[in-house]
Amino acid sequence: MAMEKQYGGMDYFRMAAAFLVAAIHTSPLASFGGEADFILTRVFARVAVPFFFMVTGYFLLPQYLFRHSMDLRPLKQLFRKLFILYGAAMLLYLPVNIYAGQLGEAGAGELLRMILIEGTFYHLWYLPAAMLGVAVVLLLGQKLPFFVMTLVSFLLYLAGLFGDSYYGAAEQIPALKSAYELLFSVSSHTRNGLFYAPLFLVMGAGISRMEHKDRRERGRMPGREETRATKKKHRGMIAADMACFGICLGLMTTEGLLLHGLKMQRHDSMYVMLPAVMFFLFRLLVSLRIAPVKWFRRVSMWIYLLHPLCIILVRGGAKAVHLESLLVENSLLHYLAVCAVSLGCGCAATVMEGRIAAAKGKKEGFHLAKGRAWIELDREHLMENVRILESLLATGQRLMPAVKADAYGHGAILVAGELQKVGIDAFCVACAAEGVTLRKGGITGEILVLGYTHPEDFFLLRKYNLIQTVVDYAYGKKLNGYGKKIRVHIKIDTGMHRLGERAEKKKEIGRIFRLKNLRVEGIYTHLCADETREPAELAFTKRQAALFYEIAEYRKTQAGGGEKRLRKDKGSPGIKTHLLASYGLINYPELGGDYVRCGIALYGLFGDGEGARRYAAKAALMPVMSVKARIAAVKELYQGESAGYGLEYKAEEDRKIAVLAIGYADGLPRSLSGGRGRVLIHGRSAPVVGRICMDQTIVDITGIGSVKAGDVAVIIGRDGSEEITAYEIAEKAGTITNEIVSRMGERLFRIWRWGSAAAEPSEGVP
Ligand SMILES: *Cc1c(COP(=O)(O)O)cnc(C)c1O
Repeated sequence: MAMEKQYGGMDYFRMAAAFLVAAIHTSPLASFGGEADFILTRVFARVAVPFFFMVTGYFLLPQYLFRHSMDLRPLKQLFRKLFILYGAAMLLYLPVNIYAGQLGEAGAGELLRMILIEGTFYHLWYLPAAMLGVAVVLLLGQKLPFFVMTLVSFLLYLAGLFGDSYYGAAEQIPALKSAYELLFSVSSHTRNGLFYAPLFLVMGAGISRMEHKDRRERGRMPGREETRATKKKHRGMIAADMACFGICLGLMTTEGLLLHGLKMQRHDSMYVMLPAVMFFLFRLLVSLRIAPVKWFRRVSMWIYLLHPLCIILVRGGAKAVHLESLLVENSLLHYLAVCAVSLGCGCAATVMEGRIAAAKGKKEGFHLAKGRAWIELDREHLMENVRILESLLATGQRLMPAVKADAYGHGAILVAGELQKVGIDAFCVACAAEGVTLRKGGITGEILVLGYTHPEDFFLLRKYNLIQTVVDYAYGKKLNGYGKKIRVHIKIDTGMHRLGERAEKKKEIGRIFRLKNLRVEGIYTHLCADETREPAELAFTKRQAALFYEIAEYRKTQAGGGEKRLRKDKGSPGIKTHLLASYGLINYPELGGDYVRCGIALYGLFGDGEGARRYAAKAALMPVMSVKARIAAVKELYQGESAGYGLEYKAEEDRKIAVLAIGYADGLPRSLSGGRGRVLIHGRSAPVVGRICMDQTIVDITGIGSVKAGDVAVIIGRDGSEEITAYEIAEKAGTITNEIVSRMGERLFRIWRWGSAAAEPSEGVP
């Protein structure tokens, strides 16, 4: 996707920030004058640590602050990571602590203070500060609206400022001075998790939210190229941010030099201008479209962790080879040597880490996932679709995603699990077995079975707490005959003539309400002509809705007793109504209902490309599924030879072909045989050759350079600047995207795509 987020800017800056932290601890310009070094290490380099806080805020906090996710896994993951890092770092530096005699004098209280606040080595304060900061922000976020929380964290920062760069001023007021002195007896700096970290964490979260709003306004549709105007606007914004960043940095430098000159500073981490500098810097970094470099994330963390050790190594090494005048006394060379050694150690540690992870992965069989053919799911796109669809809901209305047919081929447990994390707590499936699968996969909340369940399976409804659809009065009686309470929604047939009791049979419907073993919790219908608002469809849909709401009203008079019983039962919030699915939500939002049973739109698709074009402005959905396959073999096909079953394809001239490890049994429509279909290899189009087989497909790769076995072919999705959409395949196969994606088979592995923001929520650690 042209406008996809890339986070490459952030990755590069992680490295820069890690080297800036090393600069703070080595004073590279000291040999060239105190002023220059002050500007570099006490002003410029002060952007490094806030940047890392903001990364954490950006990736981790929005789900809790704005989406009120109840899922604590990302949070726990971050804390586990910070704990492990901190524990390992403490152990790593323990010998140095002991050698320097730092632990000898420290009592238990002092030791605790060091561990909880100061860090046991000079650079380690960041880790406890990050933990405390996140905790403070989340606690504030529970009670306060975002705006107020930003204000509070700014006030905390202000309080910190007067214990840091502006202490000279605070000192003048005796009451303040004693307050700060008390504070300093606990935390020797205000640059900590309480006064310093929260503001930057909150800013990171705020920028993430600004972006989402922005993106929604810009509107995107699948596969649409950026217009020149949006590109220009983007460039304009980058230029503006750069200019603002430059101005603010200039002001901060002036501020720092002034304070320094006036001898105001007790410490020099915090400036009035720093939040402004960080705001523009961070916005700039997230908006740059640079390819991500994931290994920078790990290496930069290791550089941060290891550089103090490397300083010791460089000093010791220089002494050993008598190069102290060069490598220690010349501050710049010293710094460069420390950077080089840190980078080397960082890379080595990253490689080692990778090896360990790979070994672990192998043991668990993960390597199989991308072995043959697989589905890649884009979590960020799914979340964006949720946001778009939720923005279309009326107040009080909720999504009840349709995750039937294995979430339209996307993997029901994967998708529902992800939706559950953002607070969605009702799902619908086609049959009881799908409901059972969800329950076994850890999905809680309501699960409505839309289709028929055989009486022999009624026990499953109770055992797995599923809600059954009453497909008509006769079926209601069967359900009632089971003899035990079953939760149900009653389906009304308002014109589709599929499932549901006919709307005009009010008496029967009334009787369903009074069946004593049924706990009626909802009533719904399904629209069947909601793809447009053309006059005929509009009239039909309105009639369906009118019939439905007439029944909904009617049952109020008929089922008074039933409802009372309901409330007594379990404080039920009343009977839910629902009638909208994807197209209904887009075209007929005025029809209301408590739930919207959204399916295809959630997966970023409309039935066909026509729908996508028509509704792009209203719902710029983004496809969640990509399908990829390995190339199993590459070979020549000489003139006159044929390939595949039935001698259908004959090479007119010498060709080069590739055999893909995917076939119609995996869901690739066989009707794309004979050149109708294509795949992408190395970003270029390769047409299907001959008939698609059950497990394999042959494609023509003539002219696509250096293709080899093991390379990846894209069946659905983007490769370089090319894209094959589900729309394209559906159109060629003469069907709708729903069928294409939902038939992507059992035999395909399903994995979340890496590189999307949410995939690595805890990447805020330096
Ligand atoms: C499949 C289904 C849905 C979801 O429909 P989409 O068009 O994919 O949003 C909703 N309601 C019922 C009854 C369904 O069968």
